[in-house]
Amino acid sequence: MNAITHPIHFEHHSSNFNRLRGRLEQQVGRAIGDFNMIEEGDTIMVCMSGGKDSYTLLEILLTLQKRAPINFRLIAMNLDQKQPGFPAHILPDYFKSIGIEYHIETQDTYSIVKEKIPEGKTTCSLCSRLRRGIIYRVAGELGANKIALGHHRDDMIETLFLNIFFGGKLKAMPPKLVTDKGDHVVIRPLAYCAEKDIASFARTLKFPIIPCNLCGAQENLQRQNIKEMLTAWERQYPGRSQSIFTAMQNVKPSHLMDSKLFDFKSINVGDMVDEGDMAFDG
Ligand code: SF4
Repeated sequence: MNAITHPIHFEHHSSNFNRLRGRLEQQVGRAIGDFNMIEEGDTIMVCMSGGKDSYTLLEILLTLQKRAPINFRLIAMNLDQKQPGFPAHILPDYFKSIGIEYHIETQDTYSIVKEKIPEGKTTCSLCSRLRRGIIYRVAGELGANKIALGHHRDDMIETLFLNIFFGGKLKAMPPKLVTDKGDHVVIRPLAYCAEKDIASFARTLKFPIIPCNLCGAQENLQRQNIKEMLTAWERQYPGRSQSIFTAMQNVKPSHLMDSKLFDFKSINVGDMVDEGDMAFDG
């Protein structure tokens, strides 16, 4: 068994890193508060893929748990999908090294996906459907009422554009939702965190990252294209991603065109003006 040396407790970090940690903690704390993600007595299953996002999520939640005025329980969970070359010891070793309660669920979805999907076709939708079912079942078995996922601000922005470009919908990824059968609440505490902050946090803390291409599937090509588009925009117009993200929290149904959200038919002379027509005002 490989011993994992977790650097958090004994390495001296620069003031830049301390600022970064402070920012991430503050953003996670704010998301938890804004969306009422965590309440007294919750049992939260934290889904751990072994990627930078899930390690960061767990690390920040553990820190906030120590200071929180409320009590909640965290259980780290990894689904081992039996992908070839998956280093099954890394996450258990890590969980032991930081002393957190954990559960490893082993389910060979890799073989199911390989068997059901013809060579060359995309495997991700079946794979993620299977994974979702297993995650919800395991949460039930562990007695968790909440499931925490490591999606961050940039995942949400990418999803917004995927839905606009390919789905004809103005929708992104919710910070909090209830699962289909109503049994669990899914939360995304990294909702306000930028991917580049998470990446540099994970680099500095030297999390034992597990590569995410073990299944051999190509990363969703359209998501990759959108990521590149956003990165190029951000380079040319710094702050654009944050502005898009702020817009997602500042929706004006009266200035879009969804009659289910705004009653355009009833508008009449003498009504109260709702911002007026200021679309291009300076
Ligand atoms: S990339 Fe691989 S593991 Fe991830 S959803 Fe697609 S098939 Fe599944």
